[in-house]
Amino acid sequence: MLSSVINQEQENEQIVKAYRHLLRSCKVALSKQDRANIRDAFNISLEAHKSMRRKSGEPYILHPIAVAQICAEEIGLGTTSIICALLHDTVEDTDITLELLDMKFGPKVSQIIDGLTKISGVFDQQDKSMQAENFKKMLLTLSEDVRVILIKLADRLHNMRTLESMSAKSQLKIASETAYVYAPLAHRLGLYAIKTELEDLATKYLDPDSYNYVKNRLQETKADRNKYIKNFIDPLQKALDETGLHYEIKGRPKSIHSILNKMKKQGIAFDDVFDLFAIRVIIDDEYENEKSDCWKVYSTVTDFYTPNPDRLRDWVSIPKANGYESLHTTVMGPKGRWVEVQIRSKRMDEIAEKGYAAHWKYKDGAQVNDNGLEQWLAKVREMLENTDGSAVEFLDDFKLNLFAEEIFVFTPKGDLRKLPAQSTVLDFAFDIHSGLGAKCIGAKVNNKLVPITYKLGNGDQVEILSSTKQKPTEEWLTWVVTAKAKSKIRDYFKQERNQSVTMGKEILERKFKNAKIPFSSEALNSIIKFYKLSSVTELYYQLVTEKIDRTKIDLTAILEGETKKQTQSEEQKLTKKPTKPLTKDAVIIGDGDPVEYAFAKCCSPIPGDDIFGFVTVGEGVKIHRTNCTNGISLMSNYGYRIIKARWADSNLNSSKSFLTSIKVQGIDSVGIVSAITNIISTQLQINMKSINVTANEGMFEGNITLQVSDTKHLEELMNKIKQASQLISVTRVDIG
Ligand code: MN
Repeated sequence: MLSSVINQEQENEQIVKAYRHLLRSCKVALSKQDRANIRDAFNISLEAHKSMRRKSGEPYILHPIAVAQICAEEIGLGTTSIICALLHDTVEDTDITLELLDMKFGPKVSQIIDGLTKISGVFDQQDKSMQAENFKKMLLTLSEDVRVILIKLADRLHNMRTLESMSAKSQLKIASETAYVYAPLAHRLGLYAIKTELEDLATKYLDPDSYNYVKNRLQETKADRNKYIKNFIDPLQKALDETGLHYEIKGRPKSIHSILNKMKKQGIAFDDVFDLFAIRVIIDDEYENEKSDCWKVYSTVTDFYTPNPDRLRDWVSIPKANGYESLHTTVMGPKGRWVEVQIRSKRMDEIAEKGYAAHWKYKDGAQVNDNGLEQWLAKVREMLENTDGSAVEFLDDFKLNLFAEEIFVFTPKGDLRKLPAQSTVLDFAFDIHSGLGAKCIGAKVNNKLVPITYKLGNGDQVEILSSTKQKPTEEWLTWVVTAKAKSKIRDYFKQERNQSVTMGKEILERKFKNAKIPFSSEALNSIIKFYKLSSVTELYYQLVTEKIDRTKIDLTAILEGETKKQTQSEEQKLTKKPTKPLTKDAVIIGDGDPVEYAFAKCCSPIPGDDIFGFVTVGEGVKIHRTNCTNGISLMSNYGYRIIKARWADSNLNSSKSFLTSIKVQGIDSVGIVSAITNIISTQLQINMKSINVTANEGMFEGNITLQVSDTKHLEELMNKIKQASQLISVTRVDIG
């Protein structure tokens, strides 16, 4: 009894401490009224959540306080947001109603809480299209008040920071959603610090081995790195001091996630990632001088180190759509290493770290009328308006556009337009006007004739050429990257299809009449089956476009053949023996009840990999690696179909073998291939299934599929190959 009283006291003290810390973090001076409102919100939330605890056992109220803390300290939001953050879970989880909050705090607060309550269900839907629909809603809410999304991101960040106490299954689901939606969203909003932390935390749970590996390697190489950075900075500092600028200079490692990404994308080892860190020069100066001061620093840096002309990024003259401003250059540092240098003012740095919210602080909580933010909201709205039926397609396109970097191109009149990198002439045409897109036959880029598939580069001036005879084809969808162009092309087909349905139906009805067969839905179904089509519409469409030759349709034969085949397949079903699952006892699924399963082809797990099960429709359970790219999207979209899975202990030291694949790259030298195959088959007696070697300009690349018993076995093999020659690198790859 006594101990619980003491616990109670300790907890109260902890809560009061967290609350005071929150008040101190508010950067804007709080008025008396603000203080009173925040206190009210805190008291209501405290009372409402009083009997609730988090999974960690802590009093629940610590969560809303922490979310408010992130809003104030890390995003720079003001009083309204702090109040909303404190109350964000009350309407959903307690008896507090929106009406009550409306009465106490006014309509703005209740609207934001309403938005937060609605979007909290986004990923709890069982149905993928519902999730996408809700995601769409979430973004629509965003165009009404960005604070809903910012508070949601703060909420997610705190949940990720405290993910440790959740079950393994929830960890995977929450981390996947974070990687899939929240980190890209933070990126799009220009919240780089939060984006980076979300990505790193997601990686920590989705791919713990790689995460820990990079983390440890960064720790091990820290002293060396710091020494190098000091050598790099020293001469710069002396020269910069002479310019009289006020500045700060730091060298910081890149995020674990971005380093891992580089290793995977380029198939290189940790030691070969050249830009493990970036040097940042932050100038403290007046707004009017920012641009010229940045270039002054650039000039000083390049006095000492030679810049790579291909790696100059000037987001000072033309900021990114998410508001990012900075001058980046990559220069040749000591010991022949490339070093990235980022140059920006204090104001730009603040925006880069905290996003647009950083502006609000300067503007004293007034309405945001910032150009860039308005532009991005306009873009989101445009994308929402341009999607009709399929919200899933929308979500995919939206994600594509989120990840894309931007290029700047000009119209013949010299107007600037921003497009995602990889955009083609066709994207540009649709960006100008959908009518122009559909009629586009090519373009003049910088006065040179190019085809519609031509990929635009930064600074291109583009004049679209069109013809009234032009018509979009299916192939066009593969030639565009923007969501707008895709949806406009799809619209075009939809219209075309609707017209052809009437025509196609007439053609078929005539056929039936001539063959004297009644036009019934069963007969239609048989024809669809015969041609392996997905719908009646598709059938009509193919008839009109003559993909199906209407003169050769033999209705009688098709309808009879269908009946015969049906009886046959019924017989087959009876005689067919049930197929045995492969390596049947390798994995224990769920609570250990026997379930049919197979290994996913996309990532081909082997014992030792972290794995999970995914319940498929009709094909039993598929086993994926938790770091499988496919798996991440499955987990975030179909969380309810995830089932935990682990390797059975019987796999240890067993003779069972599993298919896996490695990639060997290196400098082409005589005998290298036979040296590698010798290690694999003779020394280690591993069964090779296939080997595929290509050589090009003195480099060779080999893909080898082989059978191993587990990850340890595979690692042993990879180490052996690495030891064979310094000129070789070896990485594990997915078979699919
Ligand atoms: Mn919450």
